[in-house]
Amino acid sequence: MCNDKSIIKIKGLTYRYEKEPVLEDIELSIHEGTFLGIVGPNGSGKSTLLKLILGLLKVQQGEIKLFGDDQSQFKQWERIGFVSQKANSFNTGFPATVFEVVKSGLTKKIGLFHRMNKKQQQKVYEAIESVGLTPFINRNIGELSGGQQQRVFIARALVSDPKLLVLDEPTVGVDASHVQSFYQILEHLNKNLGITLVLVTHDIGAMTEKVNEVVYLNKRIWFHGNAKEFGELQTNGVSSFVSLEPFMFNQAQSILQHRGT
Ligand code: ADP
Repeated sequence: MCNDKSIIKIKGLTYRYEKEPVLEDIELSIHEGTFLGIVGPNGSGKSTLLKLILGLLKVQQGEIKLFGDDQSQFKQWERIGFVSQKANSFNTGFPATVFEVVKSGLTKKIGLFHRMNKKQQQKVYEAIESVGLTPFINRNIGELSGGQQQRVFIARALVSDPKLLVLDEPTVGVDASHVQSFYQILEHLNKNLGITLVLVTHDIGAMTEKVNEVVYLNKRIWFHGNAKEFGELQTNGVSSFVSLEPFMFNQAQSILQHRGT
């Protein structure tokens, strides 16, 4: 379709580290404005899929299009922000303030030793504000909680004005009591700033209340639908991932048939 608003379009993607594929025949379109959660058990290929999307692994079979361009030709990487799982294991003794860490997200643009211009400085302030950390702007990052640190890394990814933000297991290391407010911030970025979000997690609890689409991945995509449908599958007595896959597959089929798609 010509006016297809897909930010990411994946077709027939299969990936192998060794002989056995870890991703098989993935077909996935992610539209502008979506808040998508990709869930699946450990080892199900979630990080591999992200690495392929971000160009950290080379596509072996199938294709990935980013903003309409073939991924191998894609050059506008500043349109995609990435917050990795590793952000959580940040050395808490590192002597940098929230402002400095967020500013470092502009390094590519301004170089290590150049001064920021007014507009860039404003961007840093805005990014910090958008994750609710303005009161902590001069605080050393090591003095913040896991959840606050993770918000700093989101702000760092936001300074280059991405249209798409990809987050790998962002709630690992976030205190359970702060997970909800963390998701509220993501919801704000999506709803009020119009940023498309792709979130990868093995924790399907709080996530399903905030995202509007869910993909359940385990080597293949077993389910792709809205969060409400996914929630219904869960409340229909599905308790473990082991029983989930064939069950979800059947449910997904019947939902799709019911919709007439
Ligand atoms: P997830 O993010 O869902 O936990 P991964 O994408 O990390 O899953 O891993 C998917 C599968 O690929 C797992 O079986 C994992 O052991 C394997 N794998 C991941 N990275 C490598 C690698 N560099 N070399 C070989 N196998 C790998």
